[in-house]
Amino acid sequence: MVRSEYIPYFVPELDSILVGMISNRLTRRQLIAIAGTASALPAAERLQITSVKAAPLLVRAAAKQSTKQLPDFDPMRWRSFGPFSQLDGAILVQIRTKAGLTGYGLGGGGAAACLIIEQHLAPFLRGTNALNIELLWDQMFASTSFYGRRGLAIQAISGIDLALWDLAGKRAGLPVHQLLGGPTAEKVAGYYTGNDVEHGMKLGFHAVKLASFESFRNGAAGMRTNVNKVLDARKRIGPDTTLMLDALCAWDAPYTIEFAERIAEAKLYFLEEPLLPDDIDGYARLCREIHTTKIASGEHEASIYGFRELIRNRAAHILQPDLSWSGGLTDGRRVAAAADAAGLTLIPHRGSSVYGMTLLLTSRSPVYAESFGTGDSGNELMELMTPKLVEGYYLPPAGPGFGVEFSEALLRKYSPQLV
Ligand SMILES: [Mg+2]
Repeated sequence: MVRSEYIPYFVPELDSILVGMISNRLTRRQLIAIAGTASALPAAERLQITSVKAAPLLVRAAAKQSTKQLPDFDPMRWRSFGPFSQLDGAILVQIRTKAGLTGYGLGGGGAAACLIIEQHLAPFLRGTNALNIELLWDQMFASTSFYGRRGLAIQAISGIDLALWDLAGKRAGLPVHQLLGGPTAEKVAGYYTGNDVEHGMKLGFHAVKLASFESFRNGAAGMRTNVNKVLDARKRIGPDTTLMLDALCAWDAPYTIEFAERIAEAKLYFLEEPLLPDDIDGYARLCREIHTTKIASGEHEASIYGFRELIRNRAAHILQPDLSWSGGLTDGRRVAAAADAAGLTLIPHRGSSVYGMTLLLTSRSPVYAESFGTGDSGNELMELMTPKLVEGYYLPPAGPGFGVEFSEALLRKYSPQLV
């Protein structure tokens, strides 16, 4: 699909060659034409990779990792995620090519993922053709399979994959979503993630998602706090704003079922990640037994093979891959197709980044794009990686590539090792 944008496939002689082949009467001149065509096309398509680098990216003020040891049984010990997770573990991948084009992609896994790129994937990719994106994804996934498949390795691959798509877009002079068949919508409704729902509404959003709920280990008192938080938010935003919540894997199945009954009147659109990601049986039970809201999951999931298990076990109504962690755009498109075929909804984690928006705009029915940077305590770089928000709707990213210009000044500020 990428190639057709800029490779002159139309060869006038082809028609007569085909007629010749069909009638089995190839002339000497036609044979020479076939040989010439075959050798010309691969040369024109090649975009040779000369270097692959990765470094941590400071997309928000560095989180204050507490050095204070929590008591052994403190519920917060289950939620102390360390330096390689979430935005604290953001990395930027930079791929340079012989032709002078440079692509950038946002990955995860922090310094540990950078080491995987430096020592394994960079030498693996040097000299290959950056335009063979599907091929390189499958090769990287297989090549890291002894220690990878989930977690750090796929987060490293994600950043590389997004940088390759950025290169393909830049090579074609088009936004990536245009390369992939063009947008399926002119804009996508955004939702704001944060507990300050009034702030979200002031920014123009018509949908908000609450976070930071108490663990099921905090018992009945914690349950009351959690229930009241949702009922109170519904009162504050009124009946017409969409409400959701993210429990960040802090509950178990019986707790979640009771909670869903007690907040029925709040009319939640979805309840995100109530259980640990590997409790697939628990998620399947929630999908069967909860009828007051939908179950969303997948922020922690990786690759089409992981999402296949959620789909096969009917363990989510809504799938939420994060393209910087789950396998990049190549894998995200496979997940989107599988979700569509299974009748599930795709709402990518941080879907309003230029990466999430590209997946949304090339999937069949974009529903919601989660805020990424908008109104958050992020920095200018995070805002640059988010397309424009107009009256609660995100507009398509403007290309070429993913449309983010990583200038030397920006790199110096947020990822100095890549200057
Ligand atoms: Mg979440």
